[in-house]
Amino acid sequence: AEVTHGFVGADLAALAREAAMAALRRLINEGRIDFEAEHIPKEVLEELKVTRRDFYEALKMVEPSALREVLLEVPNVHWDDVGGLEEVKEELREAVEWPLKYPEAFLGLGITPPKGILLYGPPGTGKTLLAKAVANESEANFIAIKGPEVLSKWVGESEKNIREIFRKARQAAPTVIFIDEIDAIAPRRGTDVNRVTDRLINQLLTEMDGIQENSGVVIIGATNRPDIIDPALLRPGRFDRLILVPAPDEKARLEILKVHTRRVPLADDVKLEELARKTEGYTGADIEAVVREAAMLAMRRALQEGIIRPGMKADEIRSKVKVTMRDFEEAMKKIGPSVSKETMEYYRRIQEQFKQSR
Ligand code: ADP
Repeated sequence: AEVTHGFVGADLAALAREAAMAALRRLINEGRIDFEAEHIPKEVLEELKVTRRDFYEALKMVEPSALREVLLEVPNVHWDDVGGLEEVKEELREAVEWPLKYPEAFLGLGITPPKGILLYGPPGTGKTLLAKAVANESEANFIAIKGPEVLSKWVGESEKNIREIFRKARQAAPTVIFIDEIDAIAPRRGTDVNRVTDRLINQLLTEMDGIQENSGVVIIGATNRPDIIDPALLRPGRFDRLILVPAPDEKARLEILKVHTRRVPLADDVKLEELARKTEGYTGADIEAVVREAAMLAMRRALQEGIIRPGMKADEIRSKVKVTMRDFEEAMKKIGPSVSKETMEYYRRIQEQFKQSR
């Protein structure tokens, strides 16, 4: 129990399996198991016990998933998958994609690219999506961590793991490190009674300060609580590019609707423009949920009417089942907007404050 800090249930199951395998391997290596024989003799079976040593062998193979999650990936998200947010995309292209793709150009022109970028705005507006898209379009590796998980899953190991993440990132450069819900590990120092986050912020700052210019590592943080972030994190050379990711306006909502209905068979009466107009306050995530719900309604109807039958192929179903305007309207009754005018005003005010303090 002591040495399996940070292991979740599935990790422990894997550990037990690996330990049993280690025991089996040991007996095979010792020549105790004769493959020619029809049965394993009873005495050998009785000796087939998983020992402490087998568990330690297994520990070399099984990593806690908290750390496995920081494994590198190249996300499969493109700029096209992000609806609207044209200005934000442009800014990310210049602040992340160009420096990662053309580091020599920045050196040659004497421009210092930002090390850290903070995306802030209401939940579900596409911050994670943007980070993945910019990593992919920059042909960079992507490491994603979530602030709250750093605190809960990595108990006692958080600082070590942060160091490890930055080491992996440097090794695999160009790399984008994405820290979602960064406010969880970086609230104003002195506000946490047990000082855990104070130590984490210090570790994060040390790592960020240690990144060499043009070393191909960029950190993108995301938060919906920019007001509680420790100001030390926002100083020059750290998260010094602050970008608001707002709830989409009508034009952006139309783009998002187009993205999410790409593979949905729409009835002729569906007017995406009208849906865009009617979805004020809906975020990208809300719109995605509405489209899914509308398609589910169409599916329910088709199943009830016996239009979908077992064994039918996807193409045939697409030609026979259509999602109608009525389905969208019903879906919108169930899934409402998640961002109010007041909320957007709150973020605009913070945007103003950030601009003034720069
Ligand atoms: P955030 O990180 O801001 O909370 P996410 O990027 O995780 O939001 O968005 C959740 C999901 O909502 C995305 O995976 C995507 O399907 C959808 N979504 C959000 N914003 C957009 C957008 N601008 N264009 C297309 N889809 C979006």
